[in-house]
Amino acid sequence: SIVVTGATGKLGRLVVEGLLGVVPAAEVAAVVRDAGKAADLAARGVEIRVADYDRPETLTDAFRAGDRVLLISANEVGRRLPQHRAVIDAAKAAGVAQLAYTSILGAETAEFRLAAEHRETERLIVESGVPHTLLRNGWYTENYTENLAPVLEHGAVVGNSGEGRVASATRADYAAAAVSVLTTDGHLGAAYELNGDADWSLAEYAALVAELSGRPVAHADVPADEHLRILLAAGLPAAFAAILVDVDDHVARGALAARGKDLSRLIGRPTTPLRDSVAEALRGLG
Ligand code: NDP
Repeated sequence: SIVVTGATGKLGRLVVEGLLGVVPAAEVAAVVRDAGKAADLAARGVEIRVADYDRPETLTDAFRAGDRVLLISANEVGRRLPQHRAVIDAAKAAGVAQLAYTSILGAETAEFRLAAEHRETERLIVESGVPHTLLRNGWYTENYTENLAPVLEHGAVVGNSGEGRVASATRADYAAAAVSVLTTDGHLGAAYELNGDADWSLAEYAALVAELSGRPVAHADVPADEHLRILLAAGLPAAFAAILVDVDDHVARGALAARGKDLSRLIGRPTTPLRDSVAEALRGLG
């Protein structure tokens, strides 16, 4: 089977949808911790395997010999290494044919805090000896476009990334790349640096939002400590706010800028332009 973990998450759902367009549903399995959330997938013929990364004993039946598996990184920063280790151990014990993992762009050298767990997970995967494919995903465009309401309200795109450029792509773009490596051959041992074809600065993003919304929107580049205060005042959890400020600090130095064209090559089309994503998000706001 082709097995997707985190299948009820935002990226996972897109990957499963993509797989169903390429292979019969009977060949697709979803690893989920809440079967209720996957009832729609089960109804379409996807095999549901219930497992929780925090309870390794539940993972023993999640994978079978010969499976091609996508481990979608977990979403609780700071707890992910033991969680990912449990999945890797289970995949190895089962004898899977491929373990693909959603890592982070530039994982080998990235210095922002968020990258550490990805780098460590990659090391565990390589050391496990399981045939693997590393999908080093850049930033999601949705990290920005899902937050357009406050941008329009305040007329400001706030950050501490200066003129740093971000080669974002949509979750759908990254999902298509995952589908590609799970359904075609020649990807074992590969580490793909996946980013959008074009990168952009927050000033360019602000100008685009202003143009497409017809509202005044400016880029407000602020010092890191002020950005942190703004995020906390907006209600973000402290640990998460600190992570975002740290990422911006490294974006300023090019950490998430465009590296190459692995992503558009894998998906056989250009990545989704930022303009299209902003336009779609604005339509969603009504
Ligand atoms: P989601 O939060 O939507 O999905 C995370 C998935 O992981 C969910 O399906 C969740 O299950 C599952 N999961 C979490 N913990 C466990 C557990 N203990 N046992 C089993 N399953 C678990 O995130 P996205 O789909 O948007 O993104 C996928 C991943 O990409 C994130 O988890 C994160 O690691 C990373 N990410 C990358 C970003 C980028 O810009 N590159 C931005 C944000 C995240 P459930 O559905 O039950 O909640």
